[in-house]
Amino acid sequence: MSLSETITLPDGTKYEQPLGLFINNEFVQGTGGLIESYSPHSTKLITSVHAASAEDVDKAVQVAREAYNKTWKHIEPSDKGKLMWKLADLLEKNGEILGKIDAIDAGKPFENNALNDIAQSASLCRYYAGYTDKVPGKYTQINADKFVYEVQEPYGVVGQIVPWNYPLAMAQWKILGAIAAGNTVVIKSAENTPLSLLYFGNLIIEAGFPPGVVNIISGWGKEAGSAIASHMDIDKVAFTGSTAVGKLIQQMASASNLKAVTLECGGKSPCVVFEDADLESAVRHASLGIFYNSGQNCTANSRIILHESVHDKFLQLFKDYVDSNWIVGDPFDPKVTVGPLVSKVQRDRVQSYIDHGLNVEKLERFMGNEPVKAEGYYIPPTVFINVPTTSKLWKEEIFGPVAVVCKFSTYDEALQLANDTTYGLGSAVFSTNIKRAHRFAAGLQAGTVWINSSNDEDVRASFGGYKQSGEGSGRELGEKGLLIYTQTKAVHVNLDLEGSKL
Ligand code: NAD
Ligand code: MN
Repeated sequence: MSLSETITLPDGTKYEQPLGLFINNEFVQGTGGLIESYSPHSTKLITSVHAASAEDVDKAVQVAREAYNKTWKHIEPSDKGKLMWKLADLLEKNGEILGKIDAIDAGKPFENNALNDIAQSASLCRYYAGYTDKVPGKYTQINADKFVYEVQEPYGVVGQIVPWNYPLAMAQWKILGAIAAGNTVVIKSAENTPLSLLYFGNLIIEAGFPPGVVNIISGWGKEAGSAIASHMDIDKVAFTGSTAVGKLIQQMASASNLKAVTLECGGKSPCVVFEDADLESAVRHASLGIFYNSGQNCTANSRIILHESVHDKFLQLFKDYVDSNWIVGDPFDPKVTVGPLVSKVQRDRVQSYIDHGLNVEKLERFMGNEPVKAEGYYIPPTVFINVPTTSKLWKEEIFGPVAVVCKFSTYDEALQLANDTTYGLGSAVFSTNIKRAHRFAAGLQAGTVWINSSNDEDVRASFGGYKQSGEGSGRELGEKGLLIYTQTKAVHVNLDLEGSKL
């Protein structure tokens, strides 16, 4: 099986797509069979990549361990930073092609979505490049004779498993923090979207990273993913994906070598609009929060909770705004802002929620009555109104462009509704009353709160979940997104001033 293939993209661009596993700065054969990757817009096969078997994972881990011990550990932090600065430049230089690969493979609108991912990845790369020589420590004076210093040391070899909704960007959130903190990495892409991360392997070589620092594998969750989570020589595993698989990862980590775990799982985020909100702004943000990336966002504000006095006005503005701004269609069309869902499986899963809402629960569909006329895996922006909290659509993560709406009359009711979920990833609140907005933020059970915006995370601020959206302390982005890849060592220093001769 070939290790690369010339691919012609829908806009005529030709490029060389690596297909092998990226281990030790080389593309090599995998022994776990092949993974076919499809375009969700055309529904056609793009190409097949090599899948990693458990033995391939083992090989990658050995290489990462050797790179950690022999090279990466001995490179000065600021020199690691220089490599990362170079990598950031290369992400920008290759932005167009990386964006186009995610556009064809994941169905992300190139102009209005995929390019943002690459820009964010480059910013994050610079942010962590600057952190390589600024990993914070702590000093404590115990008494005149003694002090303790605490250092943050890398774990060693980190295993990472990413989903398909942000194929390149999600991987950067994981790789960059880990290598900046001094670890080496074995990362697995999602089955639906292996292509951009393999291409990124080229940039690792070109930036001049020593072999084995970043190893990239394509592979099946059950085989390669579980080989990572249960590997005896991986010191930490970081995962983003469904809560169900997150729980399995934690079990495998415990059952093997008790490796450290960071999980970023699902969400069912609320967006609360008070009667004093700037409605136009709320509409813009709330629609972005549910229709950007076709709703395939872990922080998607899929529950919209409206004060009864602005409910009808909000919905009318929302409909008008969505009709003219959230344009469904071909990811390579520059006007398009909503692409297809990533796969047939995902489209069918989302459609089954819509059908359940309509046929079983008899919910009222306010938007999304017209099916999309295209052969790909499309779902139109869809909104159900007057949805009770007992509804399956209120409770479960749908991971598509489907929002449920309900009304409230009091502040307490709004807070109770917002927190009425097993998840706690993001929450948005719209109010121009500064006291109310901050008090509400304090009451929300979520790792991220947006006041008067939604889903506009920033690489400098931490990101992660309360409740079943994560495993508690785990955060990505910001300083915390680097510190999760470190462990703390306390060094006690006894000067013994009293007893010793100087
Ligand atoms: P998933 O959780 O199955 O897949 C995510 C990653 O985990 C992939 O790389 C996959 O290969 C890997 N994986 C799967 N099973 C594994 C296992 N047993 N051991 C180790 N790794 C394993 O997600 P999915 O099936 O692609 O999507 C299902 C649902 O998950 C979606 O509908 C959505 O609700 C949710 N989801 C959430 C996110 C998020 O960002 N929070 C991302 C993707 C999917
Ligand atoms: Mn694909």
